[in-house]
Amino acid sequence: MKESADRGTGKEAKVENLIIMGSGPAGFTAAVYAGRANLNPLLVEGVQPGGQLTITTEVENFPGFPQGILGPDLMERMKAQAERFGTRCVASQVSRVDLASRPFVVEVDKEVHRTRSLIVASGASARFLGLPSEKEFMGRGVSACATCDGFFFKEQEVLVVGGGDTACEEALFLTKFARRVRIVHRRDRLRASGILQERVMEHPKIEIIWNAVPDEILGDARGVSAIRLKDTVTGATREEACEGVFVAIGHSPNTSVLQGHVETDAKGYIVTYGGTTTSVPGVFAAGDVQDARYRQAVTAAGSGCMAALDVERYLEGEGG
Ligand code: NAP
Repeated sequence: MKESADRGTGKEAKVENLIIMGSGPAGFTAAVYAGRANLNPLLVEGVQPGGQLTITTEVENFPGFPQGILGPDLMERMKAQAERFGTRCVASQVSRVDLASRPFVVEVDKEVHRTRSLIVASGASARFLGLPSEKEFMGRGVSACATCDGFFFKEQEVLVVGGGDTACEEALFLTKFARRVRIVHRRDRLRASGILQERVMEHPKIEIIWNAVPDEILGDARGVSAIRLKDTVTGATREEACEGVFVAIGHSPNTSVLQGHVETDAKGYIVTYGGTTTSVPGVFAAGDVQDARYRQAVTAAGSGCMAALDVERYLEGEGG
């Protein structure tokens, strides 16, 4: 199904059937299906190869693993499965796209690729609070990844900001190292699922500070020493001593390179119409990049499968 572009210029350029942007559960599942359909996809792994699951610990809710599986192990298996069916993985990022031309243009590390279809499965990344002090202390006490940085906080006081599943998981993980873990949440109820709420509430090392948001992170050249919290009900501020602040307040979609090329909503998520179809025929979106609601590994994988089936149908309709 390959064809030549630039006929007449004397320049032969390969045209891919399918490029997949992203290497999380959506991207790799799309790759498995597209590979088995002989589309020989090219998968660009993106900023975080393996996606968000590579910075989690135990995944307990992916069907088929009754004892749970480590996030990085699950992603390695998905990659191996995708490669088994002919997917070519590139450890790089998409720097530019042109979705107005046919075939589409996708630039990866200054190398221009052309493709008849595109699956965007670039996922989402951790959001930050937007405090100047958060930037200043990033990597010196401020982190968005307990599994990456928790080890550095042995017997120390740490705070986790947020009230969702991620905040609870981060807090539970940090109890392995920290002396005490306090969750700072802006409301008086957690958003997290029941089972994680229970584990957090029952854990002797975890406390919850309700109705509070960080106002400033304080410290010096050695790193973080305290946080100033603002009460969301009274507006009063107070300082709490701590050496680590883990921010776990949700995610933003990784769509900066696609802005203006495909329709996105106000938060930057790609808009899909009935499945994985986007505003551009031939461009499909799967996983967290188009899903602000479910955001689960298994739903991402499911939509990756749908995107690959949609691509097959699209290419057949194109006469491919
Ligand atoms: P989330 O569910 O969107 O929760 C974000 C939390 O941060 C909320 O509690 C929110 O408060 C708080 N927050 C947002 N902006 C804030 C701000 N500016 N200042 C202070 N607090 C702020 O995000 P998530 O926890 O990352 O989870 C994302 C998705 O992944 C969810 O669907 C979740 O179920 C899933 N997930 C699942 C698992 C698992 O099943 N094991 C693990 C991790 C994540 P409000 O509650 O007031 O909005």
